[in-house]
Amino acid sequence: MGLYFKSLCSSSKANCVALWTDNTCILFDAGFTSMRKMKNEISAHLGSTDRVDAVLVSHVHADHISHYPLKVIENLSYELYISEANVDLLKQRFFRRHGFNNLKLNAFGREPFVVGDFRVEPFEIEHNPAFRTFGFSLICDTDSGEKKVTLATDLCETDSCKKYFVDSDFIFLESNHDLEMLAQDPNPNSDYHLNNPDSARFLCDVVASSENKPKHVVLGHLSEKRNLPNIALREVRDAFVRAGEMLDFDLRAAEPRGNSPVIKIA
Ligand SMILES: [Zn+2]
Repeated sequence: MGLYFKSLCSSSKANCVALWTDNTCILFDAGFTSMRKMKNEISAHLGSTDRVDAVLVSHVHADHISHYPLKVIENLSYELYISEANVDLLKQRFFRRHGFNNLKLNAFGREPFVVGDFRVEPFEIEHNPAFRTFGFSLICDTDSGEKKVTLATDLCETDSCKKYFVDSDFIFLESNHDLEMLAQDPNPNSDYHLNNPDSARFLCDVVASSENKPKHVVLGHLSEKRNLPNIALREVRDAFVRAGEMLDFDLRAAEPRGNSPVIKIA
């Protein structure tokens, strides 16, 4: 069985990446601005809207989930997984008058849970204090053995979640902004996001601490105004050189204005 990743969109405006096997397809967030856009993007990049089984929600900022994506999730009978800490806020912010009576809403706690071929372990990350935010490690059996994928965006502290990233085969991590571009165009919300140098240092630390080194790392949630893929990538390469750590994995940045190619993890 193969294991694949693709970023459909990843920026400060809209976030949705897909992870799938032959049997199970999971979306990590669904921050689309309209129902049509969500259905079109899924059809265009995953073949058909029927392909998706479940959506994992990191937190309830509108670039990750909102009213119209919830309607699509309900209409297409996708399973929605969200922290029990965020269910009330999800309803307050996005249900409006629509009852969402047919929404398949699964509230997770601290324990891992199973979604098709994946064992999903949620972990809390530090972001805006008003919005509790989660990353996920997913374990999956493939033709080339068990694989671990770890996904997290929207974080401003990394010490507490390092253990989830260590020994991952695939890492999707926020690298939100360049410090010089931020200085020229300040944004108080940037405090809640991982800047390029912090993301680069963290990746270096994770790789140094891993016996099973990652094969692929994708940088995500790049700010459209305060970052560029080349700057974020260079920052990682420089951090590895400075630390004397080998960078022998496939390193990419998800284009903030587009999708990524399909990455075969296994
Ligand atoms: Zn956020």
